[in-house]
Order: sequence, then C-alpha cells, then structure tokens
Amino acid sequence: MKHLSTAKATELAELDRLNAEAWHSQYGDPLHGRELAEQVRLRARALGDARREAFARLTLASYQMRHGDRALAEAEFHALKRQFEQSGDLLGQMRASFGISALYGRAGRVEESYAELICYLADLNDADPVDATMIFNALGASSVDAGQLDEGMRHYYRALRAARQLDSPDHLALVLSNLGDAQHGAGNYEDAIRFLVEADSMVARSRLAALAPMVASNLAMCQLAIGAHEAAYETISPYLDMNAHTVRIGRSDAAFFQAIAAHTFAAHSDWQQARAMLDKSLQSAEQSGDVKVVTHCFWVLGLVERGCGHLEEALAALREAQNRLDQQHDPYYQIQIPRELARTHAALGQWHEAYIAMERYQQYYQRIQGSAARARTQMTQIQSELSEAERERDFARVKQAEAERARAELEMLNRELAAKVVEIERLQEQLREQAIRDPLTDLYNRRYLQQALASELQLAERRHYPLCVVLIDLDHFKSVNDRHGHPVGDQVLIELANLLRANIRGSDFACRFGGEEFCLVLSDIGQELALTRTQSLLAAFSALQLCSGLSGQTFSAGIAQYPLHGHDAQALLRVADQALYRAKAAGRNQVLLGGQ
Ligand code: GH3
Ligand code: MG
Ligand code: MG
Repeated sequence: MKHLSTAKATELAELDRLNAEAWHSQYGDPLHGRELAEQVRLRARALGDARREAFARLTLASYQMRHGDRALAEAEFHALKRQFEQSGDLLGQMRASFGISALYGRAGRVEESYAELICYLADLNDADPVDATMIFNALGASSVDAGQLDEGMRHYYRALRAARQLDSPDHLALVLSNLGDAQHGAGNYEDAIRFLVEADSMVARSRLAALAPMVASNLAMCQLAIGAHEAAYETISPYLDMNAHTVRIGRSDAAFFQAIAAHTFAAHSDWQQARAMLDKSLQSAEQSGDVKVVTHCFWVLGLVERGCGHLEEALAALREAQNRLDQQHDPYYQIQIPRELARTHAALGQWHEAYIAMERYQQYYQRIQGSAARARTQMTQIQSELSEAERERDFARVKQAEAERARAELEMLNRELAAKVVEIERLQEQLREQAIRDPLTDLYNRRYLQQALASELQLAERRHYPLCVVLIDLDHFKSVNDRHGHPVGDQVLIELANLLRANIRGSDFACRFGGEEFCLVLSDIGQELALTRTQSLLAAFSALQLCSGLSGQTFSAGIAQYPLHGHDAQALLRVADQALYRAKAAGRNQVLLGGQ
C-alpha cells in the first residue's frame, strides 16, 4: 500500500511539472507545449484528477486560440473558468481569464479584454512570475489600445519586474518590446531605444523568431527619430535580404525595412540607391495596405525628391504622406511631415503655406515634448513606487517572520508554563496529602481528624442524624514490640489500619490517633450499631493471621455518640477515651459505650 501511494505521489508531482512546462512553453515553443499538455490530459484523466486535467486543457485551449479555432478556444476557456471558480482555484481562474482576455483583445473588444483581467490586480503580486508577467503585459496592451498610455506603461513596468525574476528570454523579449513600443508612442525615444535594444538581444536568445522583425522595426523608428540613421540601418539590414533570412517577414515589415534603408541612403545623399530602394518599398507597402508604412514611404520619397531638387514632386509626395497621416496617430510622423512640408513650401517661396505647416509642426512638437517628459517622469515615479512596494513587501515579510518567531516562542513558554503549573499542582496535592496522612499506615492523621470531625459534626447537626466516635487502643502492644521487635510492631499497626480501612463505609473515616491508638468516625449511625460494628472489627482482628506467625492480637475500644454524649469533638473524644479506659480496666479485648 505504502509503495502504491508513493508511486501515485510521484506521478502527481510529475504531472504538475509537465503542466508548468507546457504552460510556460506556449510562446517560445507552442508545439512542445501542446504535446506535453496532451500527455498530461490523458494521464490525469486516467488518475481521475480533474484539476490537473483542467490545467492541461488550459494550455491546449491556448494553443487552439493561437493556431486553431478561436470559437472553440473561447468556449473551452469559459468552461474551464467556471470549473476553477467552483473548485476555488485562483491560479486556474486567472489563466482561463488570461485566455478569454486575449480572445477579446483579438476581437477588438478592448474594454472587455481589460475588465477580464483587472480584477486579479491584487493577486498578481503573489502570483507565479510567469502569470504575473503575462497578465500585467496583457493589461498593459489593452490599456494602451484603449488610449490609456500612462496606465499601460504602469502595467508594462510591473510585467517587466515580474519577467526579470524569470530566466526566460521569451517573456522578457515580449515585455521589453511592448514597453519600448509604448515609450516610442509617448515620444520618449531614448528610453524606448534602451528597452528595444535589450529586447533585440533577448529576441536573439529566445525562440520567438516572429517577434524579431517587430522589435527591429520599432527600434529602427526610434533610432531614426533621434537622427541615428546609421544605427537604424544596422538594425534593419539583416532583414533587407529576404532570401538570406530564415524568418518569414510580412510584406509590410519588408516594405518598412526597405523604406528605412532608403531613408538612410537619402541621409547620405545617395539619391540613386535611395530611389531604387524606395520603388521596391512603395510597391510592397501599397500591396500590404499598411497605412503606416505607406505614409513612411511617401515621406521618404518627399525627402529624396527635395534632395534631388524636385520641389513640386517633393511637395506632392509629402502631401500624400500628410493625407495618410490623418488616419493614424504616430507622433513621429506628426512632427516630421509638417516640418518637411514647411521647408519645401519655403523653398518654393510659398510663405503662407510654409507658415501653416510650421505652426502645425510646432503644435505637435510641443505635444510630443510634453508627452515624452511625462513618460520620463512617470518612469521614474513607477520605478520608485515599485521599489517602495518591494521594500514594503520585504519589510512586511521580515515583520511577519519576527511575529511568527515570537508567537512560536510564546507558545513554547506557555506550554512549559502549563507543564510547570501541572507539576506544581501535583506537588501541592502531594503536600496536602502528606499533611493529613500518617506515613506508616497511610490512614488520616490526628490533624485531619480535628478538621474533618468538626465538619462531620456540622453536617450531622444540619441533617439531624447521629454520629459515633470510636477510639481503639491495641492491647499489650508494648510486649509485641518487646518480644518481636519494633518492625513487627509496625507491621501489626499497618495490618490493623488495612482492616479498618477495608471495613468501614465510604462516608466513614479512620485515622491514626497516636502511637497504637486509632479513631473511627462513623456518620449517621447510633451507638448500638457502632458497637456491633466495632465488635465485628475486633473479632476480625483477633482472628487475623499476622506477620511472623503472630495471631490473637486484640484491642480495646470506647464509643461516644453525638449528640448523646456531647456536641463537639473534644467532648466526644473525652467520653470515648473514658469508655476505652473502662474497657481496658475491665480486662481488655472489648468495646464499651460511653456514659455508662
Ligand atoms: P495497654 O494499652 O494494653 O495498656 O498496653 P500497652 O503495652 O499497649 O501500653 P502502652 O500504651 O503504655 O504502650 C504503648 C506502646 O506502643 C509503647 C510503644 O512502644 C508502642 N508504640 C507506640 N507507637 C509505636 C509505633 O509506631 N511502632 C511500634 N512498633 N510501637 C509503637
Ligand atoms: Mg496506648
Ligand atoms: Mg495499648
């Protein structure tokens, strides 16, 4: 049995490991992820493990979304989300929502995409860095898509922080690329370049080949924006020779790379090369229908025509670019194109038009300056907020650990204390017992008799019943000691004590009154009954085979009855003692009642 359960635990741990690897591979190596997930799904089902099966299905649905039927993926994600909600599995819910949000995003349902994930914000700090990276990244993308650039960047920074905890170039490349893109959008080119250069190096180490052209085009745009034509050219040059490149580059990306190359040639006044490159670029751009690339091509055409002294043609190209600019909001073109227009109008002596274009340029320029400055301030702010949050979290963890330690210490002290209290109570009880017991016979002692007889008398008075005190003294005990020795005498005392203890009722008690004298307190009986009982005890004692062959020992006893012979202990003991004295005098081995 033990062996079986160990085997099952190993299998479950293996399934967890495979599930994690499958989920983590969905960007870098989706086929591998799908294969693993399919395997886990079957093995978990064979074990009847619904939870692990559901986690495998998440990876499969994610694959379905990216490479298969989106409607099927959507239905599966919703079903899984419900299942995880029912079982209270937060991680599962988050991952299902992540898929649902991605599907909304692809369908252009930006607000729903955002709403699907924002509810997990508070949980993300403690989430697995992979999930935190992906969800913050998705929140960033949907915020940016909704025009909330500031919030988008905030999420991207959090995604970056989570991604840096992972040893995954795939995740890091994705987030850095998005963050660079957002900074580019804000006109903060320096920081954009920083992120994109790092993204570029991560892409080279990652399995996300498809991300490479995207990062390169964003990086090249930023490099152009700061006037670094050479660097831009270097960035895009690996993509110019389409045949040499293993990654399939889309038509619009290809057109864009060619346009950047043309721009670089133009910057070097190599008009011929620039024009040749531009012809290719314009053709692919028009075919791709990508407005941004077409805008870019017309703008570069404008630069080339002006460089060649064809001012009218330059103006026509720039106007084309300007017309397309109205359909999109890239801050870079918004300032570059009006500026070129103004220059060209001025070169043609069209001062009024030049002035209007200049004004537009200035307006955009100021806007972009403001937005870049805000992005830079925000970056510093977010970074300090995140470090502060991290410090607070670390501090809280230290405090929690301290509190935990203090609590454990206190608990230990409490346990020790409780044990000590028990020990003390035991010792006190022992002391109490010792104080009222006679060590030789273990009967109560005379001190106990004083207290107990007083309270027994009160009880007898309240309940109106009689009570008898019996004083017993061994006959000729001295000679037992003399003949057999003191230890034998002790043993006789012990055996009488045992006899007395064994033959009285629970409500009575016996005590050792003195050396070889004993006292019985018998509640709720009259002197006649006390007499017969004591006589029986005497008979039993004298019939007893004692140690060392001793037998036929006797005692004498005197009885006093409450309330007949007195009302307090002292009076009753005196009367009993007088009766005992008379019994001795009458020849011993007998019991006499008091007052006779
Ligand atoms: P009687 O009472 O019949 O007059 O004679 P007795 O020999 O019992 O007389 P007495 O009361 O004078 O002697 C009591 C003896 O009991 C004296 C003492 O040696 C003995 N004795 C008292 N306490 C103990 C005890 O704890 N152990 C032993 N072995 N002997 C004890
Ligand atoms: Mg005596
Ligand atoms: Mg005696």
